Amino acid sequence: MADTGHWGDDLRKPSGMSRRGLLRPAAALGLMGLLGARKQNAQEANLASRRGVPSPRIRDIEVIETEPASVRLTVVKVTTDQDGLYGYGCATFTQRADLIRPAVEKYLKPFLLNKPADRIEDIWQSAYDSSYWKNGPVLNNALSGIDQALWDIKGRQAALPVYQLAGGKCREAAECYSKVLGATYPETVELARQSLAQGFRNIRVQVGDVRSMAGSPADNDMKPGLNGGLTFDRKSYCRRTFKLLEICRQELGDEVGLLHDMGEKVSPNEAVQFCKDVDRFKLFFIEDPLPPEDSAYFRQIRDNCTTPIAMGELFNNPHQWQELIAGRLIDYIRVHPSQAGGFSPARKIATLAEQFGVKTAWHGPPDLSPIGHMVNVTLDLISPNFGIQEYSPFNERTQEIFKGCPVVKDGYLWANEAPGWGIELDENAAAKYPFGTGETSERKRLNGGWGELRLRDGTAIK
Ligand code: MG
Repeated sequence: MADTGHWGDDLRKPSGMSRRGLLRPAAALGLMGLLGARKQNAQEANLASRRGVPSPRIRDIEVIETEPASVRLTVVKVTTDQDGLYGYGCATFTQRADLIRPAVEKYLKPFLLNKPADRIEDIWQSAYDSSYWKNGPVLNNALSGIDQALWDIKGRQAALPVYQLAGGKCREAAECYSKVLGATYPETVELARQSLAQGFRNIRVQVGDVRSMAGSPADNDMKPGLNGGLTFDRKSYCRRTFKLLEICRQELGDEVGLLHDMGEKVSPNEAVQFCKDVDRFKLFFIEDPLPPEDSAYFRQIRDNCTTPIAMGELFNNPHQWQELIAGRLIDYIRVHPSQAGGFSPARKIATLAEQFGVKTAWHGPPDLSPIGHMVNVTLDLISPNFGIQEYSPFNERTQEIFKGCPVVKDGYLWANEAPGWGIELDENAAAKYPFGTGETSERKRLNGGWGELRLRDGTAIK
């Protein structure tokens, strides 16, 4: 239903009986005619801005779950009362995936049904506050599914990609980095060379140190410990990664952007020492040197070196990024947009970071849907302070379900130019790969969750 104003309501009040008063109705009629015409013009402009259709109302909200690449993906579909007008949003929290559906269906859906789908910010704010306690990963992802679906709807309604609604492109495509993980130094270097040959200019290098991530073939940091399982040796990891970066710089040359993810696994003092030690290799950035709980130590890293720091993929709460950005304690903000509540809050994080000279490097792992990746690319295109984008390739099953995935060419990620997020979801194809399809054994046992990491004496550290 179109918005209606309240112009002219006061002109319907009875006028006085004096001669002047007798003249008033005629004058009032003229004024009413003028205001009525203005009102009609405003309504026509309003309709025109919506490309001829009235404001859509939310008619239905559905949750679509699928696992085409051993990662549990959750998408929210919002359908409006306008024929064929709907949108999709990423709500993927793969480690606790089963909790998103009830958060959407039992809480957000009854709260949002019949609300105007074109009031995205108002819906975000009211839904965000509706739980009273907020900023957790489950509620934020559920809200992200709604928020991004509403942006998709607005883009489809306008027949424009979301990046156009948000101001248009600052650049043609997003520079991204590939990720290589070898069991040995030579294997890592060889994989990096293959990435360079594919056109990437920036490569994140790891050597056998990140259990559960891409299935490390031989994890040198993992040794039997007192707990009977594998353990992580922090000092061994630091020494070996220093050596890896030294070799990569020697073998790959100075032009390559080298990145490394520390994965929040060492002590604060070790993190400070490591970032200081690798300063000489002039890295593109070091990722996640500290867990969010130890953020106060970023000041020490800053005071000891100029190694660029990327941080934030585990953040859910504005208090986690505000101080690091405003204090200029990091170089790249690396939030996972759906974990922050969607595209709407992520745009604000980018703008906040811009004010303090901090660039963006949105989290782009396999554990977000292609819609989430399109949200990342959209943010990359519209933000003057874009830094770099993490890239994860899509397998054939994923592309069978999500038509229009962003494409990488010569190390750049290109957005789909279709309206909204540019992605059409084949729901029949999604249903072919339900949760539990094709997981590795450990993640299957943990229902999509991560394992544990312990020190040699059995202390759990992650
Ligand atoms: Mg990371």
